[in-house]
Amino acid sequence: MTDGRGETPRRTGMTEKCGVVGVSLDGRDAARPLYYALYALQHRGQESAGIVTHDGFQQHSHVDMGLVGDVFGEGDLNPLAGSAGIGHVRYPTAGSVDTSCAQPFSVSFKSGSLGLSHNGNLVNADEIRDELAAVGHAFTSDGDTEVIAHDLARNLLEEDLVRAVKRTMGRVHGSYALTISHDDTVLGVRDPQGNRPLCIGELEDGYILASESAAIDTLDGELVRDVRPGELVVLQEDGDGFDSYQLVEEDNTAHCFFEHVYFARPDSIIDETLVYEARRNLGRKLWEESGVETDVVMPVPDSGRAFASGYADAATETTADGETRDEADDGVEFAEGLMKNRYVGRTFIMPTQDERERAVRLKLNPIKSTIEGRTVTVIDDSIVRGTTSTQLVQLLKDCGATEVHVRIGAPEIVAPCYMGIDMATREELIASGKSIDEIRDAISADSLAYLSTDAVADVLGKERLDLCLGCVTGEYPYDIEGEETDRNVERPQLTSRQLSAND
Ligand code: AMP
Repeated sequence: MTDGRGETPRRTGMTEKCGVVGVSLDGRDAARPLYYALYALQHRGQESAGIVTHDGFQQHSHVDMGLVGDVFGEGDLNPLAGSAGIGHVRYPTAGSVDTSCAQPFSVSFKSGSLGLSHNGNLVNADEIRDELAAVGHAFTSDGDTEVIAHDLARNLLEEDLVRAVKRTMGRVHGSYALTISHDDTVLGVRDPQGNRPLCIGELEDGYILASESAAIDTLDGELVRDVRPGELVVLQEDGDGFDSYQLVEEDNTAHCFFEHVYFARPDSIIDETLVYEARRNLGRKLWEESGVETDVVMPVPDSGRAFASGYADAATETTADGETRDEADDGVEFAEGLMKNRYVGRTFIMPTQDERERAVRLKLNPIKSTIEGRTVTVIDDSIVRGTTSTQLVQLLKDCGATEVHVRIGAPEIVAPCYMGIDMATREELIASGKSIDEIRDAISADSLAYLSTDAVADVLGKERLDLCLGCVTGEYPYDIEGEETDRNVERPQLTSRQLSAND
């Protein structure tokens, strides 16, 4: 098996929080729509970007480090011939930063060429890699995407496409939303618990699969529906439609609640709900659960904006005690008291704490006149290491705020994410092993409250068991070594198929 880029990649790191896309069009080249879709998914990954297309005869690939706009120039898009293809943007992690991490992963093998874009993270990739390596598969990386590619490639030697995907799904365990190209056929798969989002859209002359519906909007398409957990969707080669195969069915889903809280674009629709509305409703619930009367409510831009808007809205209707607000009572003022410098990149993944702290100050500047001499509530979606909130509380106090109250639109993040979100380790998480009062003291706020886990489930219209809440409960919906599960779930036994070097 050869790597489609003709290099020897070496992939490291577990985190694959990414954006994926796939299109199949009627005659028109897929590269440009894929490129625009990747632009729309840029928030899901800024480390690398790539497109793989197939023109009916051969596969073409361009994958590199950087933002979509930097990776693709006119000269890079034109050679990507063919009306079918897939694309990928990769989330940066603190670890390996080189082309070997970039996707789509592409390989050529006996029964054709394969391209794979993966969002999520497998928890049994090492077992499968060892098993396949023992029968002669040469791996060029330690990434889980290559494991899926090899397993699928092997199954395709014996089965048709649908059965081969089903067989691979029976062997891999963990979180995956995939777009795959097998020659000029494009398909999309979501893991049986549907941890990461994937949706189907109709374009003027074809169909698209994308992590988020905002990518479909960018191409003037119509959202058809989410890909169902455990479903395989195969786009028809003439762009005429798609075929659906429900390959695996589970009793419960494990949708990542953090997609709704932080990761997805607010203008995307996931599970038939606009993410912006979900965030506003979480903000409303936050007021109901832990509202505090202050002169002003302000969001941490941009992540806290929708929460703060819902919170402030609810605060105009009821008092913090839950009483209907008197007409003469002006309630709480909503103000943008923190301005964001748009040209500062992501601070979250900066390697040292000192750099992260400096970067928060570079990124956010307070408007003194909104803050001085006033009591302030500042609202964000989440606290991870606590860098942002610690810096902000200090900043607001330096600006003359008389009280600073912090309200968070998600529960305490106490455990790492193994399903693909870069969440830091337990030791780095400020809420791990601490009470709310201890966290409040650590960030020097006058008060601190998080949203309850039940409120999150309630607002998202789901049973707790249909969500992945691993990072806030420490109990996961997948069988992860050394961690607790929140349901009856086990890794597949890999002994079901005896592999030999000759088969
Ligand atoms: P921290 O400063 O470490 O407490 O991180 C919290 C801030 O980072 C909040 O403003 C969040 O919106 C944002 N955030 C939360 N999770 C992530 C993530 N996985 N990647 C990047 N930023 C995040």
